[in-house]
Amino acid sequence: MTENRIPLAGVIGTPIAHSKSPRLHQHWLRRYGIRGHYVPMEIVSADLDDAIAMLPKLGFVGVNVTIPHKEHILNVADLVSDRAAVMGSANTLIFRADGKVHADNTDGYGFLENLKQGAPDWDATSGPAAVIGAGGAARAVISSLIDAGCPEIRLSNRTKTRAEGLRQEFGTKVEVVDWVTAGNMLDGATTVVNASSLGMTGAAEMRVPLDALSKSAVVTDLVYAPLETPLLAYAKSIGCRTVDGLGMLLHQAVPGFERWFGLRPDVDDELRQAVLQ
Ligand code: NAP
Repeated sequence: MTENRIPLAGVIGTPIAHSKSPRLHQHWLRRYGIRGHYVPMEIVSADLDDAIAMLPKLGFVGVNVTIPHKEHILNVADLVSDRAAVMGSANTLIFRADGKVHADNTDGYGFLENLKQGAPDWDATSGPAAVIGAGGAARAVISSLIDAGCPEIRLSNRTKTRAEGLRQEFGTKVEVVDWVTAGNMLDGATTVVNASSLGMTGAAEMRVPLDALSKSAVVTDLVYAPLETPLLAYAKSIGCRTVDGLGMLLHQAVPGFERWFGLRPDVDDELRQAVLQ
């Protein structure tokens, strides 16, 4: 790219209109006075390969990738980071100066940074974690909890085979708990994560019994609409430290912005307010 070219980034997927990423990145661009733009792009699967070939020529330095392209994009990229390979999906592409497309997955990074910022004394090694859900988000959560030194991960999911698949992949630190007894895994857990869509506006209610939750646990919910989910509201009411899911969305955006625009942006309350508007 020539020096005079204005760097462009964006998010590709379908549907894309609901994405909070444009508001997030545009806030950072304005705040740091960076000459650049971030645009949402509705791209269907049939056009994905052509779009990835064309975007760098149009001045794009990279894009975020969302549903339904997060898995297939690994086949389109020239280079795949270790963490994207472990997750089997990517959410961030960097169009390198040498023409290569680098795919990364920053969800696990965002998950850990959000916990570190929201509950600064949280310690992954302090005891077992209980994780609800076994989809793509749970994969990022489990992988990063293991990286952070969590000694044991109790995992429960409505569809047990999905949880068993993650156990096979991540090994014996993961223990699968039957969905009907999911509440039991909260007993003694020092980290509790909802990585399912339960509790999200318009989705089914979280019905996992929470009586065994200890007030010394740090509880986080990946769902951020509503910001305070019923799980977080209950956890807060008994004295747990709680961390909402919006911060994960904000933190996962940091590595992409830094690679594209050359500055590591801050995640703070001003950003949260900008994204929530
Ligand atoms: P996914 O792959 O579609 O997985 C959905 C999960 O929710 C599965 O475990 C699924 O269980 C469970 N589930 C859905 N409906 C259920 C029901 N009625 N009863 C019991 N379990 C149910 O989705 P994902 O990508 O993992 O995302 C999960 C949630 O995390 C979503 O709400 C997403 O918005 C959120 N998320 C947030 C962030 C963030 O930055 N904060 C990042 C990624 C994802 P089955 O396997 O039985 O279907």
